[in-house]
Amino acid sequence: MLEAVQRDGIDLITVPELEGDSGITVAFTGRHGGKSRPPFESLNLAYDVGDERKAVTSNRLLFGNMMGIPPEDWVLCQQVHGSCVKRVGDLEKGRGGIDYWSAVPRSDGLVTDRAGMAIGILTADCLPIVLVCRSARVIGAAHVGWRGALFGVAVSALGRLLEYPDCRAEEMLAFLGPSIGPCCLQVGKEVACEFRRSIGEEAVIEGDEGTSRLDLPAICRYQLVEAGIRRKNIFSAGVCTQCDERYFSYRGSGGNTGRQAGMAALL
Ligand SMILES: [Zn+2]
Repeated sequence: MLEAVQRDGIDLITVPELEGDSGITVAFTGRHGGKSRPPFESLNLAYDVGDERKAVTSNRLLFGNMMGIPPEDWVLCQQVHGSCVKRVGDLEKGRGGIDYWSAVPRSDGLVTDRAGMAIGILTADCLPIVLVCRSARVIGAAHVGWRGALFGVAVSALGRLLEYPDCRAEEMLAFLGPSIGPCCLQVGKEVACEFRRSIGEEAVIEGDEGTSRLDLPAICRYQLVEAGIRRKNIFSAGVCTQCDERYFSYRGSGGNTGRQAGMAALL
């Protein structure tokens, strides 16, 4: 269902099947086609990474126009690598859309049933996940790094969505955006150990000389299936942000870089 497209020099991964009749937009952005200068070149969408405010605002306007929802109608959160997922509605509309400080504090996921606003999260290596229940018309977005995976933030987001009437796990679609892949996500012994303990031996890939790697999308897929989402309803972009120069990579840049977005909106 996921499709990579390029519009006006911007790389997007979208779900065309949900547009049109369903009126649901899902979009994952890349790093090219914006106004930011190095090391944030060029479609950096985060205000809190040290980039020029003006550049980030024009980047958000550019992407907002493309998506059909201006940044004043976005809701973003101040992500903390935790497991808190907040339900947002008309009252929260605009929070974090044109600045960082008004964003929903201390949360790593958002869910909504309100049309006319976009919810999203920002990443550079972490995994952005968008959940959609077409029949109940509800959407969610979650930010999953290795800590978030251990906390089960994707499953928390699913849980919050299931609080809406008529929303059922069997009908849920899950979209896993671009993230650091199993090729590059090396972790230390203690982290590997935590994953073996909480998820299982298969969560960790053993490399040469005692190194360990994680497959974040596979781990989230496993967690979501355990929580009731059908395997056939989970779609993964399958690109590694560190290997693919079209994306911002925190690890690949030594920590000084921009952020891409994973967003969803009910039109
Ligand atoms: Zn890689």
